[in-house]
Amino acid sequence: MIIALTCVIVFAVIAFVLGVRPKDLPAPEPESPFKHLDDRKAAIYENLRDLQFEYRLGKLSDADYQTTKKDLQKELAVVLAEVDRVRATLGTPAAAAPKPAPAPQPTDFVCESCGAKFKQSLKFCGECGKPMGVTS
Ligand SMILES: [Zn+2]
Repeated sequence: MIIALTCVIVFAVIAFVLGVRPKDLPAPEPESPFKHLDDRKAAIYENLRDLQFEYRLGKLSDADYQTTKKDLQKELAVVLAEVDRVRATLGTPAAAAPKPAPAPQPTDFVCESCGAKFKQSLKFCGECGKPMGVTS
């Protein structure tokens, strides 16, 4: 407790001496405010795919699979919420600058069994685990 308190005081003193206040800090990189979030999102999707793969290989128990999947989906929800939050604070520049043409949505790979959509072709559905046709 005392150590923690000392750390806080030391930090406060340093911050005061340096005159660093939150509003003085440089704004986050304007060019890629979503970069790290996109990276995290991609990593989570990757993990979900790996998880699905290992589950199908029988390396994971059903309980482990469900738990891990739920955790990843929770994490994904947090990241997506963060993206929304950042977008809101930035005043939705996407809406301000209309895109010439909406890029074709890459969610073209739909599981025939459960209807889950994926951004890339998968051998097996990440939701229900059924084999997915490569062509759609
Ligand atoms: Zn499916």
